[in-house]
Amino acid sequence: MTPLVIAIDGPSGAGKGTLARRLAAHLGFRHVDTGAMYRAVAWKALHDGLALDDEAALAALAAAATIGQEGAVVTIDGHEVTRAIRTPDMDQAAARVARLPAVRAVLVERQRGLGRGGGVVMEGRDIGTVVFPDAAVKVYLDASAVERARRRADDEAHTGRQAGLDRLQVDMAARDQSDSTRAVAPLQMAPGAVYVDTTGLDAEQVFERVRGLVAGAGLGKASRDQ
Ligand code: C5P
Repeated sequence: MTPLVIAIDGPSGAGKGTLARRLAAHLGFRHVDTGAMYRAVAWKALHDGLALDDEAALAALAAAATIGQEGAVVTIDGHEVTRAIRTPDMDQAAARVARLPAVRAVLVERQRGLGRGGGVVMEGRDIGTVVFPDAAVKVYLDASAVERARRRADDEAHTGRQAGLDRLQVDMAARDQSDSTRAVAPLQMAPGAVYVDTTGLDAEQVFERVRGLVAGAGLGKASRDQ
């Protein structure tokens, strides 16, 4: 049976995290933030003094690491990295690490393992295209570049927000370019995904819109055990 997974993909600042958390709480599902996994691997690589283009070493690190996500708290190999992974330097480091096919292969396998039992809302860049192409509901969240930078500036979990809107917009555009043009699992809308432009919508409106899609797919609050 296909596990019950809701896939939420899209560029940075589109509101994936806010939506995924809310949806997971509403459905009683587990929330998996796959971006945090790439960030944690990048953090540990720098911590261990590895070069960010040493694909074999980084893949070995990813395979051996214990990565935890409990609510907002992220850990890797016993280090609590919740805040440390959300800095401008780590934005870049994570995007570099995410370009390496061997690292992706390891993390995609882990993500499939996390979703295997179903009852998961998983957010990222390639969930609907690669990790769970048969997900029950696939959403591609987007927003204008200005709005995405504004949201990042308001994001208290991220330390880059003091940089100013122009700077944020330039950095985000560079990362989106890297994510969309890489050879393996580039950011793109999955077949069967619903495109949701969240520009001008608040978190509540986005949630309501996607809750409607989820209900339309026959998934209600008690669908976890079906
Ligand atoms: O979502 P977040 O901004 O935390 O992701 C950090 C980086 O991890 C992204 O810029 C992207 O390069 C990478 N990523 C990915 N595939 C995913 C999730 C994140 O390549 N499924």
